Amino acid sequence: PDLDTPPKASDALQVLHRVFGYSSFRGSQQEIIEHVVAGGDGLVLMPTGGGKSLCYQIPALVRKGVGVVVSPLIALMQDQVDALRALGVRAGFLNSTQDFDERRLVEAEFLAGELDLLYLAPERLRVESTVRLLERGTISLFAIDEAHCVAQWGHDFRPDYLALSALHERWPDVPRIALTATATEATHAEIASRLKLQDARHFVASFDRPNIQYRIVSKDDPKRQLLALLRAEHGGDAGIVYCLSRASVEKTAEFLVKNGIEALPYHAGLDARTRAENQARFLREDGLVMVATIAFGMGIDKPDVRFVCHLDLPKSVEGYYQETGRAGRDGLPSTAWLAYGLQDVVQQRKMIEGSEGDEAHRRRLSAHVDAMLALCETVECRRVQLLAYFGEESSPCGNCDTCLTPPESWDGTVPAQKLLSAVVRLKRERGQKFGAGQVTDILLGRKTAKVIQFDHDALSVFGIGTELREAEWRGVVRQLLAQGLIAVEGEYGTLVLTETSGEVLGGQRVVSLRREPEKKAAARTEKT
Ligand code: ADP
Ligand code: ZN
Repeated sequence: PDLDTPPKASDALQVLHRVFGYSSFRGSQQEIIEHVVAGGDGLVLMPTGGGKSLCYQIPALVRKGVGVVVSPLIALMQDQVDALRALGVRAGFLNSTQDFDERRLVEAEFLAGELDLLYLAPERLRVESTVRLLERGTISLFAIDEAHCVAQWGHDFRPDYLALSALHERWPDVPRIALTATATEATHAEIASRLKLQDARHFVASFDRPNIQYRIVSKDDPKRQLLALLRAEHGGDAGIVYCLSRASVEKTAEFLVKNGIEALPYHAGLDARTRAENQARFLREDGLVMVATIAFGMGIDKPDVRFVCHLDLPKSVEGYYQETGRAGRDGLPSTAWLAYGLQDVVQQRKMIEGSEGDEAHRRRLSAHVDAMLALCETVECRRVQLLAYFGEESSPCGNCDTCLTPPESWDGTVPAQKLLSAVVRLKRERGQKFGAGQVTDILLGRKTAKVIQFDHDALSVFGIGTELREAEWRGVVRQLLAQGLIAVEGEYGTLVLTETSGEVLGGQRVVSLRREPEKKAAARTEKT
């Protein structure tokens, strides 16, 4: 960009054709690009795979000077820069993985005006020498990628992002464009205020990903359920399987490999080389399954990911949507599958109770889990509920599990009353609190060792719940939790009443529950 004439919007289309080889803009790309080319600030909210990169790459090529891209994805910078260079774009990066000489070379290119795009890790901008370097060159724009990293209570928070608000003071005339795929109203507002982008134009794309089929099932033997899904619907496909813990990542990957599915593990406990290697293989080879913690995936651009599976409950709808959004960037049908159970809720509550931060922080985390639970237990279209969470109205999609097999609901008031009564009895008569397992055993009238030890077969509620099977009782507990009619607390996930439990016990409230689909007894064919 050595243009001395002011940039024109038509240049953008030419760059799209000539450099990137695409015929037309997608969605609101053109509008965004024109706005930034003309020097305006922007906040772009677009789902993963929507095409955010061009929104700053093209203005950087059209405007005079170097486009500076702030990104937390250090591990991907080399790939991004290589891909741009292959297209003839003069790109470089500065981050902590480089040695002194490599850095000097990029700095020299920057000063000589030989770069179109410079990728920077956010921590670089806290180094005074980097700021001085930038001040000696000409900057066409600042792009702040993964802008939700500035949101303090989000799961990707990076303290270095907070310092990015200073860009505006140092370079008041350089346009700034912040981009993210995370987009509740709250995060949105937080990004704008923390990055001092109050006057920026907001571009909010639809978050719908129509080619993704959302499915949520109740968990009994997750590895086996996963294997059945992959064998039935995704043989030979590439996909991502998310687990909460490193240990379950390892176990799940091993299990898949033993059963003939090529799978690789990825989590923060693996050394950097193994991680980089597994990531590179996943991107390069066909049909690999990446079993990972949420440490994996941000910024990964693999178009043919056919499924994203969660074996544990995600901590928030935002996280879930971002992770599932990595499926089907090529627009072809893809599956987002989540298995969740009561134990997930217990575990999440435990983690929240033990988390750092004040009471307000814990309340926020709880609200995130509650929204996730509500999505799991809904009898309505999953997509309608997801999009509503992001402030978008829509009608039933016909391409999610609840649309395809509408779950029946049933009047669960009496079972709910029985369960709550058992919790009340334990507490009132014995001063005891127990978890869902023991309460279920009591309702089912089972004389287990633990029931006998605590004399629970003498309770009046012993054996009053034989009309439901154990799995159904688990479903009742889960759904009461999702509806806030009961709560779990403490290390052992003890059941306790909530403010609204009394309405159920007093008969003022009808409890509508979702019927658990019957499980077919499949023959065991897997190796464990
Ligand atoms: P995001 O950063 O929003 O997740 P990307 O910028 O990585 O999305 O774009 C996703 C994919 O779509 C990429 O493979 C990109 O090359 C492609 N793409 C983006 N814009 C267009 C376009 N106008 N025409 C065709 N393909 C596009
Ligand atoms: Zn639907």
